[in-house]
Amino acid sequence: MMASSKEFPSAAELREKLMHASHILHHHDILDGFGHISVRNPEDPNTCFLTGTAAALITSPDVFTEYRINDGQPVKDGVFVSPYSEHHIHAAILAKFPGVHSVVHSHALDVLAYTVTSGSASQGQSNPSTSRPVIHKTGFLGDSVPVWDIARAYTPEHEQQKRHLLVNDYCLGESLAAAAVKPAGQYPYHKVVLQRGHGFVALGDSIEEAVYNAIYTVENARVQAQAEQRCNLHSHQSIHFLGPEEIEACSRMDRECITKVWPLWMAEIKQNALWQ
Ligand SMILES: [Zn+2]
Repeated sequence: MMASSKEFPSAAELREKLMHASHILHHHDILDGFGHISVRNPEDPNTCFLTGTAAALITSPDVFTEYRINDGQPVKDGVFVSPYSEHHIHAAILAKFPGVHSVVHSHALDVLAYTVTSGSASQGQSNPSTSRPVIHKTGFLGDSVPVWDIARAYTPEHEQQKRHLLVNDYCLGESLAAAAVKPAGQYPYHKVVLQRGHGFVALGDSIEEAVYNAIYTVENARVQAQAEQRCNLHSHQSIHFLGPEEIEACSRMDRECITKVWPLWMAEIKQNALWQ
């Protein structure tokens, strides 16, 4: 581990943490051969670091490429550019929200059903998903989680045969980022946005928060799905979602939990030879 003598971490330190975060997310089945996590460059907030190497195969902080957030392109010409085309997700979200410093994009299986089922409109939000917080660790989900449908973001420029649901250009990234905007007067952004038929993004003001939000978004989906199954089997049962005050209180508690659980997640990845 690199030592820091400064109050704020250096870019090198955050690239190392990004490597560990990738392994943690793989350990928790949030990232497999696909999906990624990014971090804003602390030495230049207009750029970010991201890699196209599968999370479990990252063995060095050097694999991360620096991208500009205003157009999603690599800072240096001729550098390795991710074979994964979705770096635009990260660039556009980091450009839209200066308070966001890390983004996870995941295809985690347990969340996918909630990306293809629609909920009822609430609080001026026309596209809520059916995913809602049911456990105390997911207050950060708020009272509704938006689902972004890429079909509405395509323009005539996007040829029909290339509409494969990938966020592979900056305009699509901007559209996804806009889905995280909350109505005026609320916290400035949704920390999770589902992507129809594809996956989700989790936003955080740090690598640790983005990882936490991603892991517990998936855990919430598992519990909610089990609860829905029980309701289908027993018609007299219903799901008790978190209420508004509970969401508020739990989201404050979530913040404290992040630093509590991070050392355990770090210890777990050190036990696996794949990541040494
Ligand atoms: Zn994807």
